[in-house]
Amino acid sequence: MLQQTPVTRVLPAWEAWLNRWPTPAAMAAATPGDAVLAWGRLGYPRRALRLREAAVAVVERHHGVVPADIQELRALPGVGEYTAAAVASFAHRQRHVVLDTNVRRVLARIIAGEQLPPSSLTNTERARAAALLPADPEAAATWNVAAMELGALVCTASNPRCPSCPVNDRCTWLATGKPADATPRKVQTYAGTDRQVRGRLLAALRDAAPDPVPPAVLDACWDEPAQRTRALQSLLADGLIAALPDAGYALP
Ligand code: SF4
Repeated sequence: MLQQTPVTRVLPAWEAWLNRWPTPAAMAAATPGDAVLAWGRLGYPRRALRLREAAVAVVERHHGVVPADIQELRALPGVGEYTAAAVASFAHRQRHVVLDTNVRRVLARIIAGEQLPPSSLTNTERARAAALLPADPEAAATWNVAAMELGALVCTASNPRCPSCPVNDRCTWLATGKPADATPRKVQTYAGTDRQVRGRLLAALRDAAPDPVPPAVLDACWDEPAQRTRALQSLLADGLIAALPDAGYALP
């Protein structure tokens, strides 16, 4: 839930989710539509489907217990390098490099003297973090949390609080006068994108659930027919909505 979504938005949804589905077995028994509905407006709703699929896999492959082994975690639907390392480190106190956007920014500044990390994760960043990570697994897990919190609370993207930073005596970026990032960055837009159209269509289906929605309701969600059709087709292809035999649509 926290991938690309701020904690403040996630917290209420996370609490409601765990109250409703406190175990992988409970989640696995839900329908995909239940998961999409409970996901609400968190965004990137395919994550809801993957989370449910991961719960099904945990029940089928691991007797309902989330595995501790990083390779078994990686094999679960929707679980990539970051999530597997985070679960293995934070929950099971193993030694793994956990590189989220906050940690990557902190290390880019302290070690590389750059304002921001590269746009996608590099092997150099992995090696740099692995070299810094304490050898003791418990200390490594604490180090991961500390680096993440430093990035989230002190070394923020746009307003780092360097005077009160606990590592300001060893920060290359600060020592070299905080040179500005020279890499052209893509600015993520939302208004007018297919993502926005998908969000509108899915919101109409959530609002009507458990009832289906006739095509005319979806037509009213977005004026531009070609873009609306493209968004609808992609939601169908992703399994986030289902087409009914009588031409309506519903959550799966
Ligand atoms: S000194 Fe400033 S830029 Fe360097 S790690 Fe601390 S907050 Fe970030």
